Amino acid sequence: MTGKSNTSEKREDIRIPIRVVRGAVIFLCFLIVLMVGSFLHYRQTAQSTAIADTTALEIMQQKNDAQAKEIEELARTTTSLQADLQRLNSLDAEIRRIVNNEDSTTPSRSGLVRPSANFTGQGGPQITANVSEINKLAMELQSEVKIREQSLAGLKQDVLVRQARLAATPSIWPVSGDVTSRFGSRNSPWGGGDDDWHPGIDIANNVGTPIFATADGEVVQSGMSGGYGNLVQINHGNGISTLYGHNYQIIVSVGQIVKKGQVISYMGSTGNSTGPHSHYEVRVNGTAVNPESFLVLK
Ligand SMILES: [Zn+2]
Repeated sequence: MTGKSNTSEKREDIRIPIRVVRGAVIFLCFLIVLMVGSFLHYRQTAQSTAIADTTALEIMQQKNDAQAKEIEELARTTTSLQADLQRLNSLDAEIRRIVNNEDSTTPSRSGLVRPSANFTGQGGPQITANVSEINKLAMELQSEVKIREQSLAGLKQDVLVRQARLAATPSIWPVSGDVTSRFGSRNSPWGGGDDDWHPGIDIANNVGTPIFATADGEVVQSGMSGGYGNLVQINHGNGISTLYGHNYQIIVSVGQIVKKGQVISYMGSTGNSTGPHSHYEVRVNGTAVNPESFLVLK
């Protein structure tokens, strides 16, 4: 009886109430749903993160590509600038040669034209460019531009000096007419068969023919002067002066600045003269030289 009762008690012990089983099943279902839900959520999150990472990478890649393109463009521009500067250098050297009448083989003092070892011309499809190379090239260009600027400033000075020198050089004829006596020894116009040293050129024309200053300068003499008659003398600087004798009338005065080609007087026959003419004389450091060595125009 006791045993039976024990067995009966044991059976009762292991009996699980239906509501517990139901509860357990519901709990299990809930757990499964929770796990599946968690898994799905995790996968979703992981995918989103992966997508976000990929997008960030793509944006970065695009940025890199854009930057690479900009660098290439910069390299191309810099290289093109270098080519421009090289042409400018050549032009500078050429002008210098013309101005200074240099031989084309003479090395110019305008600086060197240095080709770049890193970049090979403009318009090429492939340029191996990096920022440090471009910076280096840009700095080189900057210093070359400075050299070129100094060179051109010097060239401008050279041209101005040359211009002034040309303007102050008696290179034109003082008057139109016939050359009746050249520079050097001649038979004396006063007869007697005597040799005479003629320090200028005589150009004959009608009385009143205008006479021009043959270069820029300052009038240092204006008036009667012995055998020269009515004389004009102009100082052109650099030790050069010109004289115009036998004038009928003088229209410039001492101290007046005259320009090349300006009318200074009118032809006459004053002083020692056999007829209306202009005695034209060029002096270098006080010594009369052949005016024809200066004349470039007839
Ligand atoms: Zn003369």
